[in-house]
Amino acid sequence: MELPIDPSTFRIPPNADIDLSDWSTNEHGELSKDEAKPLQKALNKRLEELQENLYAHGKERLLVVLQATDTGGKDGTIRAVFDGTNPQGVKVASFGKPTDEELAHDYLWRVHQHAPKRGDITIFNRSHYEDVLVVRVHDLVPPDVWGRRYEHIRNFEQMLVDEGVTIRKFFLNISKDEQRQRLQDRIDEPAKHWKFSFGDLEERKHWDAYQTAFAAMLEETSTDQAPWFAVPADRKWFRNLVITGELVRTLEEIAADRFPPNPELDGVVVE
Ligand code: AMP
Ligand code: MG
Repeated sequence: MELPIDPSTFRIPPNADIDLSDWSTNEHGELSKDEAKPLQKALNKRLEELQENLYAHGKERLLVVLQATDTGGKDGTIRAVFDGTNPQGVKVASFGKPTDEELAHDYLWRVHQHAPKRGDITIFNRSHYEDVLVVRVHDLVPPDVWGRRYEHIRNFEQMLVDEGVTIRKFFLNISKDEQRQRLQDRIDEPAKHWKFSFGDLEERKHWDAYQTAFAAMLEETSTDQAPWFAVPADRKWFRNLVITGELVRTLEEIAADRFPPNPELDGVVVE
């Protein structure tokens, strides 16, 4: 289907020199929120069909990686983009603070087991990238240790691609002021208190260090086969349109064909 906006505008080229202040957090693509609604609906409908094809064929697999600062909109993205898809074939793997058992292993151990199986779409809500983000910002391991991880991650993802996994990675790019507003909303609205953590206020103090770590992540690990997109995410509807658009475009390449009719079933009547 014709895309209203071109998601590739936000694709990070390999080996790019990234200054995040050059990457817009607030775009509308010449659309209003109302104009975007039917477009989003049509994209969701197509994503639903494509996901069913993917599941029916049981051959291809898609990994979607979401990274963002706190309040960046990872949960909302999952809800809006995958609305209507079949939960049987769509898995979400969320990566929080590692357990003792996870910390006793290498950092990819807990991640690899959640890579998608044939026919599935798996969404990583946070991912192995935390090991070059929060870990870097808080000096949880020495610089030479996290510094080596970019190469490990490129190789890990290349291995997945070589084995038949399609990968798309989205950095939800919000402004510092938008984060302030979203945190304040979580404080002011009791219904949102469950989302609030005092830790988020602490993390906000490290905003600049996180921006540096995000930029390094984009520079070091956006490849032709496992590209990053820096999605302007201050407007949720625009963010959803870009990500759904890119996933539809990607799935059109690997899951456009419907499951073929079986000629042996011609005329078969159930007694
Ligand atoms: P939430 O997504 O709000 O449930 O928070 C999950 C928390 O886990 C965040 O504060 C992350 O920074 C933290 N986290 C995720 N992965 C790691 C990791 N590998 N090492 C340390 N903290 C992590
Ligand atoms: Mg949180």
